[in-house]
Amino acid sequence: MNDELIKIRDLHIEYKTNKGILGGTRIIHAVNGVSLDIKKGEILAIAGESGCGKSTLAKAILQLEPAKAGEIYFENQDTLKFNKKEIKNFRKKAQMVFQNPYASLNPKMKIIDTLKEPLKINTNLSDKEITEIVKEKIKMAGLDENCLKLYPHEFSGGQRQRIAIARALVMEPEFILADEPVSALDVSIQAQIINLLKELKEKYNLTFLLITHDLSVIKYLADRIAVMYLGEIVEIGTNDEIFNHPKHPYTKALLSSAPQLSKRKQEKIILKGDLPSPANLPDGCKFHTRCPFAMKKCLEHIPFDTEFSKTHKTRCFLYDNND
Ligand code: SF4
Repeated sequence: MNDELIKIRDLHIEYKTNKGILGGTRIIHAVNGVSLDIKKGEILAIAGESGCGKSTLAKAILQLEPAKAGEIYFENQDTLKFNKKEIKNFRKKAQMVFQNPYASLNPKMKIIDTLKEPLKINTNLSDKEITEIVKEKIKMAGLDENCLKLYPHEFSGGQRQRIAIARALVMEPEFILADEPVSALDVSIQAQIINLLKELKEKYNLTFLLITHDLSVIKYLADRIAVMYLGEIVEIGTNDEIFNHPKHPYTKALLSSAPQLSKRKQEKIILKGDLPSPANLPDGCKFHTRCPFAMKKCLEHIPFDTEFSKTHKTRCFLYDNND
């Protein structure tokens, strides 16, 4: 049975930025040869430092960022070859929940109008039918239908994020990209939204791509985790494989900042230096400039993936048995 909703193959994303007072442009290599599957009904999280390319990758899946090369399949159709009409249809099935619920709702529109808008634009449903759908989705998001008469400023941050989630749900999507969905919220409210996302996944079999720097959110929500470094997936595995049996030195370093999330004993790993610029990628293994285990060949050659199980693999020479 083919259970992948999204398949990404050898995806590359580059963009140009100005060099500032020096003049000219430089090329940012944001995503470098990513291949990844997102299965129906799962929450796949992408973990990694800010600047690792996780948000760029996520936006490319929704066609909000152009790809330089590669393929992105949604239900076995190559979305990068879609025409305008096909993109419009695809965007009904793939929705996004933004980081900042304060900025993502129009302050001048009542909630009912905000939620009706995508249905009015994208369907031929009557106003009565649209209203029924809106009422159903606001309840799914954990709010009372009385809130539909109000404006965004009349809600707390957590309630606004529920409204933003309801707006994503009105199109009955199959896939939701949640980009830092709780990081702008008070800690006391974060758990409510995290539980809501889990409930939506479990009750309605929705598929999520979760982008966040918060490992405790990933630990609680994600079925599988892809660890990203300088535009590459360096390790991927189930929640248990990544948190309790990590293999890549970078994954271990990330987890050592949150030892309470893992069953294994781990020592604190402090990485050397900062994340290198994606405009100037290191040769060989891109992690070698910060890796405590770097060997001579890591500086010259690109490591390949080593599989530990059907679901767990990493890209590192430490597991190369061909020496
Ligand atoms: Fe470290 Fe070498 Fe493995 Fe890269 S390939 S993570 S530099 S040991």
